[in-house]
Amino acid sequence: MTRSVSILGATGSVGLATLDLIAAAPAGQYAVTALTANTRAAELAELALRFRPRFTALSDPRQAHVLEAALAGSGLQWGAGASAVAEAASMDADWTMAAIVGAAGLAPTLAAVKRGKVVALANKEALVCAGPLFMESARLSGATILPVDSEHNAIFQALGGSDAASVRRIILTASGGPFRNSSLETMARASVRDAVAHPVWSMGAKISVDSATMMNKGLEVIEACHLFALPPEKVDVIVHPESIVHGLVEHQDGGLLAQMGTPDMRTPIAHALGWPDRMETRVSRLDLPALGTLTFEAPDPQRFPALDLARAAFREGGASPVILNAANEIAVDAFLNGHVGFLDIAAIVADSLEQGEGVARGSLTDFDTVYAADAAARELAVSLVKARARRSASLAQGA
Ligand code: NAD
Ligand code: MG
Repeated sequence: MTRSVSILGATGSVGLATLDLIAAAPAGQYAVTALTANTRAAELAELALRFRPRFTALSDPRQAHVLEAALAGSGLQWGAGASAVAEAASMDADWTMAAIVGAAGLAPTLAAVKRGKVVALANKEALVCAGPLFMESARLSGATILPVDSEHNAIFQALGGSDAASVRRIILTASGGPFRNSSLETMARASVRDAVAHPVWSMGAKISVDSATMMNKGLEVIEACHLFALPPEKVDVIVHPESIVHGLVEHQDGGLLAQMGTPDMRTPIAHALGWPDRMETRVSRLDLPALGTLTFEAPDPQRFPALDLARAAFREGGASPVILNAANEIAVDAFLNGHVGFLDIAAIVADSLEQGEGVARGSLTDFDTVYAADAAARELAVSLVKARARRSASLAQGA
């Protein structure tokens, strides 16, 4: 039977990996319902011409003419703007890949969850900002959320349906990123190129910087608490530079179950795409003798404060995880654009959490309160970025 699939964030690293699996599957197995992207109109058009979705949506209306010209005469339906992305996410597909990066993915991911089908979730920021609301929406609609983040996908598999009470803890592995062995001095001077040069995984720019600060692992701790209904004390992080073991579950009997594989997102995506069956992939296989050893070490909270910031924000609750995520998105963007230094990222997040009282502190009762807190936190973070950029400019002048 043909399975209809939609891909939100089709031009991204996860989106393209998903389409790669679909292209390699036997003809007729998958039919594409909708594809969406943010600004890359030409790339989106190319994907649309190749996969012939029922609807193609571009978020940025300023690039609509590019999509229009490329799809002219193709007979393909398309739209531009936030409403077009919302329409794409609301279309009736059996399976949706939620792979938009950042809080921008909140509304489209929610629209997919509300349809009550299968949602393969890569967009961890959505869960960080509104975990309880998402899980409740899925419960109400009957949607199945399948974790795509490699660690969470690994843990989902290693849990094997066992109940939370029998789980002593889960362990997320972290590669440690490009600065695993770097001094604080080196990290302070790190360029964008240094920070996005991930030693193992090939990913989008934002998550690559998040891996370098280890905020990615912080977001993943929160993501895991929501997905698996576990308290943060039961979610550990270990640095494992080879990124072969993706996640582990320790049961009360002392047994530890791990899921392993080459660091290639196509494996967790294939697990979600084939679920509940398994599908063949062209992913390269693990050669254990060639690998020889696997190493593990504890993360260093001094050089990577983002991990503790995320745990603290989760414990604080209310709008704190929203502030954490929004400040991080703004700070990473400022770093990628050369406005602040690498170590400023975690500092801006810490300052935002500290000064965030003005941002709705109370409980986030619905998605509107989440959006409002997100907007206010972004405004605060932008002002903190500007203050830091001004300070370093005047320091540079004084020097
Ligand atoms: P990416 O930057 O490569 O792609 C992001 C996609 O989202 C693109 O298609 C882009 O067009 C779209 N997008 C960006 N901003 C948008 C907006 N404002 N409105 C609508 N669409 C928008 O990112 P990625 O690396 O593929 O990551 C996607 C998500 O998956 C992130 O949440 C990330 O944390 C998560 N994730 C990625 C990986 C990985 O290996 N890349 C692994 C685990 C989890
Ligand atoms: Mg991950």
